[in-house]
This record gives sequence, structure tokens and C-alpha cells, in this order.
Amino acid sequence: MTAKGTLYTVSAPSGAGKTSLVNALLERCEGLQVSVSHTTRPIRPGETDGVNYHFVTEAEFTAMLDQAAFLEHAQVFGNFYGTSQRWVEQQLDAGTDVILEIDWQGAAQVKRLLPETRAIFILPPSRETLEQRLTSRGQDERAIIESRMAEAVQEMSHYIESDFLVINEDFDAALADLVAIITSQRLQTNRQASRLGPLLENLLS
Ligand code: GDP
Ligand code: ADP
Ligand code: 5GP
Repeated sequence: MTAKGTLYTVSAPSGAGKTSLVNALLERCEGLQVSVSHTTRPIRPGETDGVNYHFVTEAEFTAMLDQAAFLEHAQVFGNFYGTSQRWVEQQLDAGTDVILEIDWQGAAQVKRLLPETRAIFILPPSRETLEQRLTSRGQDERAIIESRMAEAVQEMSHYIESDFLVINEDFDAALADLVAIITSQRLQTNRQASRLGPLLENLLS
């Protein structure tokens, strides 16, 4: 039997580095996938529909809500975001670990539904660094950066609801912390026992 995968949420204020860190983590870890959210936000230069997000209209988003297609959804910076329930379930059932890169409201909804979810929060080393990263990413208008900075303190206060806290100062150190979190979950005895059934049987018979 395949052990069910572990579900993780990764939350952070915009610009803290969650997308870059999660992408690097996927290259380092086998058996780990990130969920591609649906959003009504306009597509940014360099983004691809179906890769970064499934970009949908508000009418399409509402229709999906009516069909109960979302595991969770939230309104963030005036746009709607939601996670496909079916895709996540399929991955977990197949034994794949899944990361949801979602805001704190979504992470709280998922934790209520699936309490075994591991919630990770990423914080920047300072507010100044956060603003610099949002600016240097060069993908959002000044007014959007200002509105994201204005929300940042409120968002960051939700770190307390997470299970793991990672500071993204040095990128490689933060990535090593994320790898350690995934590895430690995989080494838990109940997960090892279902993965290593034949080995344990040989040792103990
Ligand atoms: P980023 O913060 O620069 O990565 O900007 P995005 O526009 O990609 O994401 C905006 C916010 O929406 C972030 O707080 C994300 O964590 C959140 N978000 C993205 N996808 C989802 C989702 O499927 N569900 C929820 N609840 N939040 C999401
Ligand atoms: P988020 O998904 O949280 O909004 P991104 O992953 O888009 O954040 O990162 C925001 C910007 O900061 C990007 O330009 C990224 O290359 C940069 N960045 C991320 N982590 C670091 C780091 N540790 N040091 C310097 N720049 C970083
Ligand atoms: P951005 O528009 O900059 O890609 O994302 C803005 C915020 O929306 C980020 O904090 C991101 O984590 C969050 N977000 C993206 N997708 C989802 C989602 O499916 N659900 C929720 N709740 N938040 C999301």
C-alpha cells in the first residue's frame, strides 16, 4: 500500500522569497509537487498560464466555487485565489508530498480541514529587505508594491499559527532549512514503517 503523502502549506508576505525557495526545493526533493492555484489576478510578465497559476475570470472562479472545486480559497490584495481540491487529493493518494503556496487565511482553512498539514512560514530578515526584494523583482507597479508592504506586517503577525518558521536571509541557508523540514517528516517512524515494510520484516522475523 502507498503511504499517503504529507501536505505542507508555505506562507509568507509577498516578496519574502517563497516562490523562489519552493522552486529550488522542488529541484532538491523527489516525490514533492507544488499545487498550481487558480487566480483572478492579472498575469505578470514572465508568467505562464497553467505553470505559475491557472489564470481565470471572476465568473470562472465563482463557477468553480459553486462546484465546490476548491480545498480552500481566499481574497488576497483584491484578487481571488483558490487551491484545486481534486488535484491535491490525487497527489496525496498517490503518496506524493504536496506544497500549497498560499496566504495565511488559506493555510488556516487547510489546517482546520486537515489537521495533520504541516504549516511553514517564511519571514524576511527585515522590512527594508522585503521592500527591496519586491522592488527588485520588478514585476509589480509601485502602487501594488506599496499596498503589499502595507499588508505585510498584518500578514507576518500570523507566523505564530505555523509549525515551522524559516528566515530567508541567506537563500541557501533558508533552502537547507526547508529540505530539513521535509526530510524530518519523511523520517517519522510511521512513514518509515510503511515505506520500509520488507526491510523491517526481514530484520524482525
Ligand atoms: P507573491 O506573494 O509575490 O508570490 O504573489 P502572488 O500574487 O503569487 O500571491 C498572492 C497571495 O496569494 C500570496 O499570499 C499567496 O500565498 C496567496 N495565494 C496564492 N495561491 C493561493 C491559493 O491557492 N489559495 C490561497 N488561499 N492563497 C493563495
Ligand atoms: P514571493 O513568492 O514570496 O513573493 P519571490 O520568490 O518572488 O517572493 O522573491 C522576491 C524577490 O526576492 C525575487 O526577485 C527573488 O529573486 C528575491 N529573493 C528571494 N530570496 C532572496 C534572498 N535570500 N536573498 C536575496 N534575494 C532574494
Ligand atoms: P501573487 O499574486 O503575488 O502571486 O500572490 C499574492 C499572495 O496570494 C501570496 O501571498 C500567495 O501566497 C497567495 N496565494 C497564491 N495562491 C493562493 C491560493 O491558491 N490560495 C490562497 N489562499 N492564497 C494564495
